[in-house]
Amino acid sequence: MQLISGTAVAEKVLEECRRDIAALAAAGMKPGLAVVLVGDDPASRAYVRSKDKKCRDLGLHSVKHELPATTSQAELLALVHELNADPAIHGILVQSPPPPHIDEAAIVRAIDPAKDVDGFHPVNVAKLALEDPAGFVPCTPLGCQRLLMDAGIETRGAEVVVLGRSMIVGKPMALLLMAKGPGGDATVTVAHSRTRDLAAVTRRADILIAAIGRPEFVRAEHVREGAVVIDVGINRVPAPETAKGSKLVGDVAFAEVAPKCRAITPVPGGVGPMTIAMLMANTVKACRQLQAGAVLE
Ligand code: NAP
Repeated sequence: MQLISGTAVAEKVLEECRRDIAALAAAGMKPGLAVVLVGDDPASRAYVRSKDKKCRDLGLHSVKHELPATTSQAELLALVHELNADPAIHGILVQSPPPPHIDEAAIVRAIDPAKDVDGFHPVNVAKLALEDPAGFVPCTPLGCQRLLMDAGIETRGAEVVVLGRSMIVGKPMALLLMAKGPGGDATVTVAHSRTRDLAAVTRRADILIAAIGRPEFVRAEHVREGAVVIDVGINRVPAPETAKGSKLVGDVAFAEVAPKCRAITPVPGGVGPMTIAMLMANTVKACRQLQAGAVLE
């Protein structure tokens, strides 16, 4: 059984970013990422801090806007417009979920698609479906695809089952894997909470990607002998035996599934580190594309 280390592959991605950042610096450019957080959700705050830190480690320009939970839709839109117009900012990310009074979809639509490094803007969703390489692909599925490619897992002709159909993970994951070319060309099935006889469906998979947000839901009975399993889930569960009193587990019951697998990702240390690495890569790409556009104008 091969343990696919997201930590190791993420480090490779970041090394590529460093090279690209050095090349951009030689052309007088520094990629800039703005992360906007509304409210004080502790998990979101931790994500925003780690994104900001990773940017600084890489030598990216990083701007963090931490706004109170009382921020209005109009104030948030005004900030997005300001960031759209800021030439030092190439990537904009509004941390999800915002407080309930904020219309998140409207905020996403207000972000300039050329700076939408999360890949959630409808223009980028369309570009992914159209297989336009200039578009931005959501970081988590992009990271999963990169993990498969780096681990030497052939997707061409493979039966892939994506468990979960969210716009953040499941749907873009399916689009990436069915696209033509390396890392794609798979036969993709998307399963969800309404899927009949789920275990029979997931057992067909050469590659099973679990993204449902249910701790250790995927058991040995869901997985074929010799399958590759990518566990996207990040779930905090009580663990009285630990000092913290809780621990992170994936959507896959690792201990019973791993022995059946040809390869599997752990949690933590699997998909998680890839998501942030791909965010850095998307920011560098945005900078490069905006610079190329500016040269053409
Ligand atoms: P989500 O928006 O809640 O979507 C969950 C999907 O799973 C839905 O399509 C849902 O089906 C399906 N589902 C839920 N329970 C199911 C069940 N019992 N059987 C079959 N399908 C079921 O979640 P998400 O944002 O995609 O995130 C999924 C997981 O990935 C979470 O654990 C999240 O923390 C994690 N995540 C990790 C990263 C990372 O960086 N590693 C990034 C993003 C998310 P319906 O559509 O029918 O409701």
